[in-house]
Amino acid sequence: MNKPIYIFSNWKMYLNLQESIDMAELYKESTKNLDNSFEICAFPSALAYDKVKNVLQDSKIKVGAQNTYWIDKGGYTGEVSAQMYAEDCCQYVLVGHSERRHQFGETNEDTNKKMESVLKNNIIPVLCVGETSKEREDQLTKDIIDEQLRSAFNNIDWPEKMEVIIAYEPVWAIGTGVTPSLIDIDEIQQEIKKLTKDITGQEPILLYGGSVRSENIKEFLDDPLVDGVLIGGASAKNDGWLEIIKQIEV
Ligand code: PEP
Repeated sequence: MNKPIYIFSNWKMYLNLQESIDMAELYKESTKNLDNSFEICAFPSALAYDKVKNVLQDSKIKVGAQNTYWIDKGGYTGEVSAQMYAEDCCQYVLVGHSERRHQFGETNEDTNKKMESVLKNNIIPVLCVGETSKEREDQLTKDIIDEQLRSAFNNIDWPEKMEVIIAYEPVWAIGTGVTPSLIDIDEIQQEIKKLTKDITGQEPILLYGGSVRSENIKEFLDDPLVDGVLIGGASAKNDGWLEIIKQIEV
């Protein structure tokens, strides 16, 4: 079976509850005529997750979590566990997003614990990796990605039937309007593919993320080493999303 084209939308903290519900309605309506070659997932805030899931229940769109905590239950103020999301039919979770790593101080070890708990709860993790601009300037991109991958998979026996999804998201491309060249993306995707296969024994699904918009989405999706995209800002705006849909429909 051919792999679907992955279109994953990270709404971050851009939308309040009502705006998230309205956006979910827009997603449902705008994807009605898309064929099954697309795997679309929206990642709303924790607050809006359940309402968005209800709006999207009879649609082609899945709903995922932006973040989870690795302990199932207990005194962890402000957190929502992978187990809780699993009980609420969550299918994907973002793990190791650069905003978690760089704005909230999440370490590679934290990412590893999150991977473990997400897998234990039968949710598919979408592991995000990427270098900062300083690391890129210092030519450390491959070392950083290797380290992020090795530690995320550390001591994990990857379940045979679980997809491995890795999003390459250079930190300097997120929300900046600047994107790497396809040559640079391919070089890193090759590296991610090889290392992930060595570690998990599986062929990973490779996403690209960082300033994906309607103007450039086709370029990324036409790249044979890119199976899909993780979109932030543009996915949480009405026209941003509708323009993206126009591009992928053709
Ligand atoms: C992201 O946060 O995953 C992302 C890719 O953001 P943006 O599309 O806004 O650069």
